[in-house]
Amino acid sequence: MNDCIFCKIARKEISAEIFYESDNFIAFLDANPCSKGHTLIIPKKHFFNLIELPAILGNELLDVIKKVAEMRFKDGAEGFNVIVNNGKEAGQVVMHLHVHVIPRKKGEKAIVRFPCGA
Ligand code: 5GP
Ligand code: ZN
Repeated sequence: MNDCIFCKIARKEISAEIFYESDNFIAFLDANPCSKGHTLIIPKKHFFNLIELPAILGNELLDVIKKVAEMRFKDGAEGFNVIVNNGKEAGQVVMHLHVHVIPRKKGEKAIVRFPCGA
């Protein structure tokens, strides 16, 4: 997908704070974070939503989610939300599958409205 912003991030054509990469996924900081460390995990290949993601990539995705969450716990998080908006009506704005990992701390209201920091 030539004009997909997350494809461009995956191809390193536009910059993002990529801090973790596996064979098929990358993790980078959300530009409008809901909380400190709010991370997006995307497949390097373009898929629209979770339904399109081949099941064979499921284990690797779960592994990246767990790795990111563990990093955030080391940074002081006490919990985290994992959210995937699938489709415009569910609040998906960028039409390239992405998993939000949103670190939480005691006292924070775990309410999410997208976009967060805008
Ligand atoms: P959605 O509502 O589609 O689930 O969320 C899209 C997310 O992508 C939003 O949280 C938004 O802040 C983030 N985002 C959109 N464009 C960019 C970008 O160019 N760079 C980064 N790092 N995040 C982006
Ligand atoms: Zn894409």
